[in-house]
Amino acid sequence: MSTDCVFCRIVERQVEASRVYEDDATLAFIDLRQPNPGHVLVVPKVHVPMLDQLPSMLPRA
Ligand SMILES: [Zn+2]
Repeated sequence: MSTDCVFCRIVERQVEASRVYEDDATLAFIDLRQPNPGHVLVVPKVHVPMLDQLPSMLPRA
């Protein structure tokens, strides 16, 4: 977790958010800015600077 990252703070419940979905790896919540009605942000629960730096969590075939 990064204390400078608002997404990490939302995941850790240090910042309030309207949660839509949550599992062990992912959190989805309503975007407060709502560029479009119903806009939802989906974030990983681990902090990474770029999404392509996420560890693979998919089962390997
Ligand atoms: Zn983060």
